[in-house]
Amino acid sequence: MKILVIGGVAGGASAAARAARLDSNAEIIVFERGKYISFANCGLPYHIGGVIPQRESLLVMTSEKFVGRTGAEVRIQSEVTAINPKAREVEVKNLKTGEAYKESYDKLIMSTGSSPVVPPIPGADDPDVITLWNIPDMDRIKGRVDAGIKSAVVVGGGFIGMEVAENLIERGVETHLVELQPQVLPPIDKEMASMLSDTMAKHGVKLHLNTKATEIVRNPEGLTVKLEDGESVSAGLVVMAVGVRPNSELAKAAGLETGERGGVKVNDRLQTSDPDIYAVGDVIEVNDFVLNHPAMIPLAGPANRQARIAVNNIFGADETYKGSLGTSIVKVFELAAASVGASEKRLKQMGRDYLKTYILPASHASYYPGADPLYIKLLFEKSGKILGAQIVGRDGVDKRIDVLATAMRNNLTVMDLEELELAYAPPFGSAKDPVNFAGFVAHNIIKGDTIVVDPDKIPSDAFLLDVRQPEEVICGAIPDAVNIPLGKLRDNLDRLPKDREIIPFCKLGLRGYVAERLLRDKGFKVRNMSGGYLVWKLFHPTGGEVSPSCPNPAPASGGSIGETDAAVELNACGLQCPGPIVQVKNKIDELQDGQLLKVTASDAGFANDLPAWCNATGNQLMKIVEADGKIEAVVRKGQGGAEPVPAGTAEAKPKRATLVLFSNDLDKAMAAFIIATGFAALGHKVTIFCTFWGLNVLRKDHPPAVKKDLLSRMFGWMMPRGAKKLALSKMNMMGMGTAMMKHVMNKQNVDSLPDLINQARSLGVELVACEMAMNVMGIKQEELLDGVSTAGVGNFAGMAAESGTTLFI
Ligand code: FAD
Repeated sequence: MKILVIGGVAGGASAAARAARLDSNAEIIVFERGKYISFANCGLPYHIGGVIPQRESLLVMTSEKFVGRTGAEVRIQSEVTAINPKAREVEVKNLKTGEAYKESYDKLIMSTGSSPVVPPIPGADDPDVITLWNIPDMDRIKGRVDAGIKSAVVVGGGFIGMEVAENLIERGVETHLVELQPQVLPPIDKEMASMLSDTMAKHGVKLHLNTKATEIVRNPEGLTVKLEDGESVSAGLVVMAVGVRPNSELAKAAGLETGERGGVKVNDRLQTSDPDIYAVGDVIEVNDFVLNHPAMIPLAGPANRQARIAVNNIFGADETYKGSLGTSIVKVFELAAASVGASEKRLKQMGRDYLKTYILPASHASYYPGADPLYIKLLFEKSGKILGAQIVGRDGVDKRIDVLATAMRNNLTVMDLEELELAYAPPFGSAKDPVNFAGFVAHNIIKGDTIVVDPDKIPSDAFLLDVRQPEEVICGAIPDAVNIPLGKLRDNLDRLPKDREIIPFCKLGLRGYVAERLLRDKGFKVRNMSGGYLVWKLFHPTGGEVSPSCPNPAPASGGSIGETDAAVELNACGLQCPGPIVQVKNKIDELQDGQLLKVTASDAGFANDLPAWCNATGNQLMKIVEADGKIEAVVRKGQGGAEPVPAGTAEAKPKRATLVLFSNDLDKAMAAFIIATGFAALGHKVTIFCTFWGLNVLRKDHPPAVKKDLLSRMFGWMMPRGAKKLALSKMNMMGMGTAMMKHVMNKQNVDSLPDLINQARSLGVELVACEMAMNVMGIKQEELLDGVSTAGVGNFAGMAAESGTTLFI
């Protein structure tokens, strides 16, 4: 048997090696037009960045070694220029000598790959405009970086463009990334890609999304890349990474069938329209395993597996290639982004029905250091069939996407995901692995146990219920959402509207789901926000009342930690959100102004939450560093004489609100308590300072007998005793108006004033009676509601000075 292989890298080298193993007597010749065979093209960006220091490491196999090991003949710098299927021969040009010759075959394997597309824009032919496809390309790019170029433009934000940008940044090159789509990594959905853009920007990549390079101009300093949006960027180097096209010209010229996008058509045995010619790798059109539709999926894994199947079939097997899922993963600085199957946008394009969920389980047991949320998006059908998945996270992304890919390849359903028995120990996973968890949630959706709404589809008239802890809300809140922590929800059901849809949410989705179940059982119309606040942020990157995406600050400008500054230590490792931030709050409450708190936490979200929390609470973040899965931070209580750490562009919110209640009119007192409750629900510390007539609101209905002088007793008789006895400020009409008002309030489910007082107090609203007014009016402490404290005007002035809001009612 004489087998010719065109192309000597992923698919070609695999095919030749397999053929040689199956039949050592076969005559096998590999033609490769380049100088290298079997090199690691996937590793090229990392040699530019210095992560793979040795160039030789990329030359997985030299021609000599390959020949020695396999017995196959390798002809490098030999280009196949034509295929003649009838004569069963190819024409070859020796690129070193220029000699042309013919070579006959029994079977031919084409693995000619694909080539990078260079957009036809003026200046794209400049020698400093380079694509990254092979070893010489890599050498040229690395040569420019080694020579000290200061800046570079990468055109194209796909897998290769992103890897190149990251590696240029690692080399200290100012890097701009230009992408036509409004997102990086177009194969995945936009909201999932938003995390990648944030991370790239955080590491210094200057992103130009939704625009394209229109011209490259050479000037004495280097190149200027002109963009469609009018911007111009100077660069010493331009790397073009806008996509690939299959190297199928040979096949077309030989009369082999090709598809709409130029890929060579093959049957499931990987034979082209000529049964003696097989084709594998980037050059072929494959069947999309999920959509059952022709697709071009240029990835190394499929190329290698197809090569093995094609060769097995040449030697008599009857194996079939069942299609590609497009399982892929890319490193983006500290993140990994992976996907398998169809994206949501692709499903929409294809007009397919689908369900979806976002889940954010921890990458491993949350109490073991380094656990971090995995953002998992799962697309599935009502039947349970899995259509696609995307995962972004820092840890454990590869393992989960591979399990999902395996499940999809074997037609497992989301119900099957629930049952998978996966390896577990705290450093690696959870007893309920994220993949199991994805199955639980998806199955719950199918069964109707949970009804979800996507964060970008929330109806404008819905009642948004934030069930996170107030400390979390400080770090970022959805505008107009009302905060009732999950633990207090049962006692506050009367604050929720019966006539509006309620959409509860928490940070990651789980507490929101618990709230959803509770509220539905209590008769409310409710849907859970899929993925919670963190997924809402993906859809609203600049939203949130206080941005949690504060930069991780270096020691804050103006503040420094003195050698002798002893810090109180707090170990919050193993606690998951909101644990660490709640612990910080409690500890800070115990400290004196200016004292330092050194906190260590393992919950990665803490790195975002703490700067926002410090900014919102007026404490100073002195230091925050992440290493080995732990976050170490130092917070100085109060300002310590220095500027606070800037919290993104959002303004810090005041933490305290003070109300002076002067009136004992029913309507005004009600307004005071409703406003106070609103502030408290947003996490503010609220004090109502009752003075003069306002003291009556705090009086008990049936006070114990207290000793008073006659004047005080007379005062007491003349004034309303307690919240139930107050009258309207207007239209009281001898009490008729007040009675009517109470009747209407009762009918419309509006709380009475005593209920409003209780509700406010349950949210931590502090009631303070003015000592001076008590003396004047002869009111004694025993006559006031239990738990009401008394204070002087100085105390009130102190509270008001700390408050962002002070109201006089
Ligand atoms: P190739 O491996 O490209 O081999 C084709 C060979 O055929 C070429 O060497 C070419 O010179 C030769 N050839 C073409 N025409 C002729 C001819 N007429 N005569 C002689 N020789 C010819 N994939 C992943 O799955 N994961 C990754 O992380 C990843 N990273 C990548 C990073 C980079 C920078 C690049 C360039 C690619 C990456 N890929 C990755 C894609 C992956 O490398 C390809 O999908 C895979 O190599 C395709 O294999 P192939 O055999 O079809 O083509």
